[in-house]
Amino acid sequence: MHMDIKTAKYSGYCFGVKRALKLAEEILKENQGKKTKIFTLGSIIHNSGVTNELAKKGLISVEKLEKIIPGSIFIIRSHGMSPVLVNEIKKKNVKIIDATCPFVKKAQARAETLSKNGYFVVIIGNKNHPEVMGIKDHVLNKNYAVIENEADAEKISSKEKIGVVVQTTQTIGKLCLITSKLLEKAKELVVFNTICNTTKKRQNSTKKLANSVDIMIIVGGKNSANTTHLMEISKKCNAVTYHIENYKEIKPEWFNNVKNVGISGGASTPVEDIMGVKEAIEKL
Ligand code: SF4
Repeated sequence: MHMDIKTAKYSGYCFGVKRALKLAEEILKENQGKKTKIFTLGSIIHNSGVTNELAKKGLISVEKLEKIIPGSIFIIRSHGMSPVLVNEIKKKNVKIIDATCPFVKKAQARAETLSKNGYFVVIIGNKNHPEVMGIKDHVLNKNYAVIENEADAEKISSKEKIGVVVQTTQTIGKLCLITSKLLEKAKELVVFNTICNTTKKRQNSTKKLANSVDIMIIVGGKNSANTTHLMEISKKCNAVTYHIENYKEIKPEWFNNVKNVGISGGASTPVEDIMGVKEAIEKL
């Protein structure tokens, strides 16, 4: 069947993910054939295909600090990390390679400055996301709350000064909704919009494409925060949106009577995966 297939202007690996993967590849190459072990805490990116390939080259992803052995190398992921945990790892005589994305570093620095200046820090983001867990440990006096939605914002008691930072992959819509609620809670409200440019570009181009096609396919890890946000954004503009990890999940019946297809992918989605989906749809 003939269909017009378009990919979003901005999709696939972002600057921060590319940088982290390049650093990981370089470290793995330098240490090829040596006894030194190379660790990350959790997967280096939320994409199983890529992490499996890196595991074959020697990158060991662990879930607990205790598994990191003394004398090894440890890579901080693009999501960043709690300084408390980094110090724990350093005590083991482990070499730290910091691949924290500069946009995440900025959010961490903003949180630290706000706490130093006496603000109650509100972090808008997913409570269990590693980026948010890293940002909250930059609030020196622990005077903070992580807020996921408007209901969480309602629960905050009134404060003299509130300072807001936001997880880099959140949507501007959510930031606006929550900050408008927080206006009722503080005499002084300072908002740092720490959503990264890359995220904004991906979200806007996905929105534009979703509005102009019959069906949208979002490609990327189901555990990837930014891919999930793209799915939500696309679904608001186009109810016929599917989130898949790769071309194998495509169902031909989705494309009955479809003339225009849009494809977008998250910041942790390799361009090959997006092209793989495009080619598979072309063959239907
Ligand atoms: S999505 Fe933005 S903040 Fe996150 S790694 Fe990519 S460029 Fe950095």
